[in-house]
Amino acid sequence: MENISKENIVKDCKKIVIKIGSSTITSKDGTIDKDFMENLAYQVKTLMDEGKRVVLVSSGARIAGVSTIGKWSRKEDINYKQALCAIGQVELMDSYRKIFNNYDMHVAQILLTKEDFCSDNRTLNIRNTLFTLLDEGVVPIINENDTVCVEEIKIGDNDVLAARTAALWGADLLIILSDIEGIYDKDPSEKGAKLIEIVTDPEELEKSITIGEKSSFGTGGIATKIKAAKIVNKYGTHLIVAKGKEKDIVLKLGKGEAKATLFLAQN
Ligand code: ADP
Repeated sequence: MENISKENIVKDCKKIVIKIGSSTITSKDGTIDKDFMENLAYQVKTLMDEGKRVVLVSSGARIAGVSTIGKWSRKEDINYKQALCAIGQVELMDSYRKIFNNYDMHVAQILLTKEDFCSDNRTLNIRNTLFTLLDEGVVPIINENDTVCVEEIKIGDNDVLAARTAALWGADLLIILSDIEGIYDKDPSEKGAKLIEIVTDPEELEKSITIGEKSSFGTGGIATKIKAAKIVNKYGTHLIVAKGKEKDIVLKLGKGEAKATLFLAQN
């Protein structure tokens, strides 16, 4: 029954935001995982051919920056982090452009900050650009604009950026692709941890589970995924957390063939 509802939700949703976490976009050697990107392009194309509209929110600029310039990986200084993101963002989008072009899709880059969501004028502009790109069949790829953000004003994590984007666009569904099948009742490295398949109240979930360490490439961890659910569920948008590295994961979700956690919006 749980699988059936997940399956139907993906089938019925027309406007989907897919968030790709750092651990999903990166290979073990720290470079951009081109096989993953290739499979993502295939899945986005399939969804679009089914009449759905897709917006991507992609992490990975900093890691792409480290592998491109081959230094500064250990620098914790915020200016170096921003510099790495500026270098890596080009690399990241270059890979998206080439790979998505092979599937006859064009991509567009949108870089946003927290402040952009606080101004009516800016949200209107973002919405207009998004709608124009989507009407023309272009895939928008959103990331945080790290150059103009210092720690205090950062959205903080792309899970939250993806949630704000989904709310602003009026998406039906946000899919967060992580390095794990979903949310467990305790740290999944502990024995006996159980996957939670459906959540109807993110606040309650937060109180009832134990959150462990995030992965080495990860940024937000599970806490920001729950925060994202709280944001989007309020607007009637469902959220699914699933394992990004699993081949055809989004298509499998639509067939009820993959494990995941579904945060079901109540209205
Ligand atoms: P991403 O880069 O995809 O955002 P993160 O590394 O930030 O992913 O968060 C996912 C990681 O959080 C998982 O790899 C897992 O080891 C860890 N984790 C800790 N506690 C939990 C939990 N209760 N349920 C699921 N994952 C958890």
